Amino acid sequence: MDAVTDSKAALGEKARNFVSNTRKMLIDGKWVSSVSGKTFSTIDPATGSVITDVCEGDKEDIGLAVMAARRAFEDGPWVKMIPSHRERLLHRLADLIEENAEELAELEALDNGKNKAIAQAVDIGIAIETFRYMAGWPSKITGDVLPLSVPIAPDQDFFGYTLREPVGVIGQIIPWNFPLLMCAWKLAPALACGNTIVLKPAEETPLTALRLGELICEAGFPDGVVNIVPGYGHTAGAALTAHPEVDKIAFTGSTEVGKIIAREAADSMKKVSMELGGKSPAIIMPDADLEIAIPGAASAIMFNQGQVCCAGSRLYVPDNLYDAFLEGMTENISSLSIGSGLNPENMVNPLVSEIQLERVMNYIDIGRQEGASVVTGGKRRGDTGYFVEPTILAETSQDMKVVQEEIFGPVVCVQRYSDVSEIVKLANDTIYGLGASLWTRDVGNIVKIVPKIKAGTVWVNCHNILDVAMPFGGFKQSGYGRELGKEVLELYTQTKSVCIMA
Ligand code: NAP
Ligand code: MG
Repeated sequence: MDAVTDSKAALGEKARNFVSNTRKMLIDGKWVSSVSGKTFSTIDPATGSVITDVCEGDKEDIGLAVMAARRAFEDGPWVKMIPSHRERLLHRLADLIEENAEELAELEALDNGKNKAIAQAVDIGIAIETFRYMAGWPSKITGDVLPLSVPIAPDQDFFGYTLREPVGVIGQIIPWNFPLLMCAWKLAPALACGNTIVLKPAEETPLTALRLGELICEAGFPDGVVNIVPGYGHTAGAALTAHPEVDKIAFTGSTEVGKIIAREAADSMKKVSMELGGKSPAIIMPDADLEIAIPGAASAIMFNQGQVCCAGSRLYVPDNLYDAFLEGMTENISSLSIGSGLNPENMVNPLVSEIQLERVMNYIDIGRQEGASVVTGGKRRGDTGYFVEPTILAETSQDMKVVQEEIFGPVVCVQRYSDVSEIVKLANDTIYGLGASLWTRDVGNIVKIVPKIKAGTVWVNCHNILDVAMPFGGFKQSGYGRELGKEVLELYTQTKSVCIMA
């Protein structure tokens, strides 16, 4: 592994300029400092050193941002804007993201640690797709004409219809694993439906959200429609959740924090949508094609250093394939080069933060104590930056903590099974239900097993494939509501019934 001392040296001029100043927050179309004057530092996970300082939003700043969003929602150009104009703004923003894709990918790689080339193709690429897909909706969101009977006044003429209206001011709270992509998943549909927004990015990774804020201004969205307030969850995030002028909270993050937010939001009966944690199974059937399944199961867990809510973190392998599978997977993941994401050759990059490093290393220790065998990896790499070797914990069993709890790192639990009739029960045996994958060549397996899996997405012979047309969300404690696809319109509109008596 190359030890990197100065990640900024690998940046292009635009990204380097962006991180050479303290970054401000976007409130009512203006870049402002926090009311308290406080800032926090954002850290480069490849080196542990400070990238730059960012203004730290708290209750007062959230209050100003929410009131700006409220004004923009009640009055002014956004309210009057015709649907086709809203579509043009969303397309314009997608074009601007595309024009600045390299800079955004560099900022993402620097702030989160991930591979720059993958960031450009996946994070930035899918963000562009998301804005383009959602740009198609404003002119196509319609209500219905209702065939009314009104039995109490059968001789009277009535005309009934529904309107699909925006929900209002939306508070959006997002995590650090796909910082810009999470902004796109949240902002694009909310804007397509005509809402206004206060977005709080994760404190670990605020940079691309703030650069996106500049592009939003450049695209020409009216002041106050999108406000971006970086800050900590327990201060800025909590203030956003509690604010009476926020109509809805859309959250992505841990199940633990999701529960806190849902409880808090209940006080003012805010609407909430929740995209939470997971412990997704990858199920290898006895007839699986190992040429596809081994690299597939490896990337299901190792992509983004395992910091993916639907990562294939529980791997179930049948007796007949077990030894060959473990050998193939070990070879696959131990050959990946480890190092800074700003060098695109490196496929294993640092975890996002020191806290996450400690959390993952702690889970590996717990796995050892519980009796799992460490087949490969299991160690921190280097003593600067937050690198963890891709790790296989084998011979795990269902009751272990490492099998039940979300590790959110490059650690897979491999479990042997003998009885195919038990596999659905094993796959469903966690509190989560976000994703699952089934690896088989038998269409009968697909038809029988897929309906029994309790997960919002089931992949067959692939894993972690996300598409903007495909609704995404959780069963059980992985959350509620579906992002993406046309189902996301349910999250950001509300129905008004209208009845006219003629
Ligand atoms: P998290 O603590 O749930 O944070 C997610 C977002 O919520 C961040 O913006 C965070 O702000 C904010 N937040 C924290 N406490 C809050 C509160 N009381 N009120 C309002 N907002 C609050 O998740 P994390 O620390 O980023 O990661 C921890 C674990 O979450 C991971 O190990 C993983 O299990 C899970 N996770 C899941 C997903 C997913 O996509 N489902 C994504 C990332 C993480 P700050 O970061 O500024 O504190
Ligand atoms: Mg950072």
